[in-house]
Amino acid sequence: VLTKTEEQVLALVDREEVTTFMQELIRARSDYPPGDTREIAQLCVDMMSEAGIDTKIITPPDTVVSPLNDGVPNEMKATVIGTLQGESESPSLLLNAHMDTVAAGDLSRWKHDPFAGVIEDGYIYGRGAGDDKGSVCAQVMAATYIARAAVPLKGTLFVNPIADEEAHAWRGARWMVDERILVPDMAIVGEQTDNEVAVGERAIIFCDVTIKGKAAHGAMPWAGNNAILRMNEFINLLRSELEPALQENGHPYLPPTTLSPNTIKGGTRTPIIAEECTLTIDCRLSPPVTHDQVVKGMEDLLKKLSDRGPAFEWHIETPNVDRGFVTDVEEPVIQALLSAYKDVTGREPVPTGYNQHSDGSRFARLNIPIAIFGPSDPRVGHAANERVSIDQLVEATKVYILAILRLLS
Ligand SMILES: [Zn+2]
Repeated sequence: VLTKTEEQVLALVDREEVTTFMQELIRARSDYPPGDTREIAQLCVDMMSEAGIDTKIITPPDTVVSPLNDGVPNEMKATVIGTLQGESESPSLLLNAHMDTVAAGDLSRWKHDPFAGVIEDGYIYGRGAGDDKGSVCAQVMAATYIARAAVPLKGTLFVNPIADEEAHAWRGARWMVDERILVPDMAIVGEQTDNEVAVGERAIIFCDVTIKGKAAHGAMPWAGNNAILRMNEFINLLRSELEPALQENGHPYLPPTTLSPNTIKGGTRTPIIAEECTLTIDCRLSPPVTHDQVVKGMEDLLKKLSDRGPAFEWHIETPNVDRGFVTDVEEPVIQALLSAYKDVTGREPVPTGYNQHSDGSRFARLNIPIAIFGPSDPRVGHAANERVSIDQLVEATKVYILAILRLLS
């Protein structure tokens, strides 16, 4: 059931305007590398400031250094903060979505120019249409319509189109959280959830497993210890024992724990028994599964194989470890989104989890409740012919509007 104010603001939502703004966002290229967000940041600032929202653009100082060492100057990493100040500072709500995108990839696989914002059959095509400019568009437009309607808010709204997410956020969310640039009471991170309400995401651990066997002449395998064969046995145990065991526990709203072996490198030449083999595994952990459980589980398997013989050496490195988060469904930020979803779509909302990883896990370090919500099918992100449905984009804008009003007015 909508209040008069809610109806008033929703009536301002203009499909044409939302569509045009989305096309402009796609045309302002921000693909990484270098992920230059200056042009798209200015578009967000212009849209919000014309509606009376206080806006500024911030960039990390030179002391902030990305370990990616990509040579991209910090001045390209423009992040926007729009502030709609209500009666008091709190409660404060952060809307966050990233403006940078991945590269377009093989252009021959696109049916339209990925930076033109072409419309076909109710979809807007382009790199970032889903990941994550659709969410940027819906958040900026939602705040803009509320500002135009001059609805008095009790608390404070921050709109934060951010840089550097696709480069692991060292010059974006990690920096903002480290420096406590924004410390809101709650947050909605815009990522592609197909407009479903996600309560969290899994933790990440990348494991590089190296097995060291013994080289020998390729004609006499019995004289060596083939690291590729030992790795093959390890992969089989990973799939048949460790992953199913870890999947016995998991969060009801999140996908199960997955251990995906994604690169493998072993041996030197065909006539030589492979001495060394390295496997990299992308592990996504559904709570309560912990980092230690995963690494310990792999160590136990390697030890078991080595003890069985022929014995070998091994080691595990973890080059990328990041936390996840799960927000209680009863938190106001989740409840507001669920009720907004119901009132906008007429469908019964079912809380879900986000399949990927987002800046939400960085803001989770502030120990605040966080939801993930945004338009577009997550399967089109990072792929050719990325697109967002205009219906869904407008729907997301409306859900954001109701959620903001219910949390802040
Ligand atoms: Zn994204």
